Amino acid sequence: MSIFNHHEFNHHEQISFFNCDETGLKAIIAVHNTNLGPALGGCRMWAYESDEQALRDVLRLSQGMTYKAAITGLPLGGGKSVIIGDAKKIKTPELMRSMGKAVETFNGRYIVAEDVGTTVEDMNFIHSQTKHVVGFSRDGEGSGDPSPTTALGVYTGLKAAVRHRLHRSDVKGARIAVQGLGNVGYNLCKLLAKDGAQLFVTDLHADRIDHAVKEFGATAVDSDDIYSQNVDVFAPCALGAVLNDATIKMLKAKVVAGAANNQLAEARHGEMLRDQKILYAPDYLINAGGLINVYYEHRSRMTGKAYDRAEVVAHVQKIDETSESIFRLAEQEGIATSTAADRIAEQRFNAPAVSKAA
Ligand code: NAD
Repeated sequence: MSIFNHHEFNHHEQISFFNCDETGLKAIIAVHNTNLGPALGGCRMWAYESDEQALRDVLRLSQGMTYKAAITGLPLGGGKSVIIGDAKKIKTPELMRSMGKAVETFNGRYIVAEDVGTTVEDMNFIHSQTKHVVGFSRDGEGSGDPSPTTALGVYTGLKAAVRHRLHRSDVKGARIAVQGLGNVGYNLCKLLAKDGAQLFVTDLHADRIDHAVKEFGATAVDSDDIYSQNVDVFAPCALGAVLNDATIKMLKAKVVAGAANNQLAEARHGEMLRDQKILYAPDYLINAGGLINVYYEHRSRMTGKAYDRAEVVAHVQKIDETSESIFRLAEQEGIATSTAADRIAEQRFNAPAVSKAA
């Protein structure tokens, strides 16, 4: 298996492989970049078909975290970990504790959090071995469910895009299609409905749609029809790769702003949206509320400075200003907003002032 020539390898600082015969742990921790601070990122547990797939995932996801932390102005770098195996079959407290020992070997350069296949309970087991973990549930210490904070960030970025593209100062009366009514989508609908937006919603679970229809007066839409709704905004809050050759052609919305990670199927789809005069609010900026939240949780634990919800909200609200500067840069340079976001993030984490190599 090639590492330094791997397609997804991009200046990663450290990639460590862990094996524990006793507990069955097989894991990889990748630290992409720590120029701005310790690398924070979730621990994904997945039944990867090959070690190669696991490596690809951890390289790609850890790099994504560097961009997300940098664009959000957090003093954090990017990292991620993967545990190879089916969480339903092989996960035990012992295995998670041995993952905690693996995290501890980084001595704080990597901070772990929940991700797909891991839970708050797992973070508690990890916490028995290392303090470099966020999102665990020790009484009163954790910052709780990150989804409402993520939704607040998406709402902030969505409103910035509506102001920029549609010249509207609020979303009152705006027609907004929301794909996915899970933890974030539901909380986003709540904020938008309060402001008087007209919602068009879909989900794979009929009960979630019914709930939104009753609670927010939303219009129910079949999942295949969500892209072609005659709306002002499309808010993808379900899966990644939903902006692709087929779906972008269907969009009537002038703004795309949602919570889902990796919404663009390929980087070129950012250009395709621009060609269609659709303003895309970059996903990794506007869905960063959860990361902002856990950063403040971690800081409070490390420094003793109290976790202050008002400070978290003020930081999340900066997504407005950052979105606006990305939209402006994209216009000035004639580039996609996704490219503009990458440029700003790269400038921040590669700046000589922050580079340890400088
Ligand atoms: P969730 O699992 O609670 O909700 C996802 C919802 O999407 C579910 O209700 C599911 O039924 C629905 N769905 C799945 N496929 C669909 C489809 N094809 N059409 C319509 N609906 C579909 O997840 P979440 O925590 O709300 O996160 C939503 C997205 O935001 C994910 O992509 C996640 O990675 C991303 N995200 C979440 C957070 C967070 O704080 N929870 C932070 C950053 C990014």
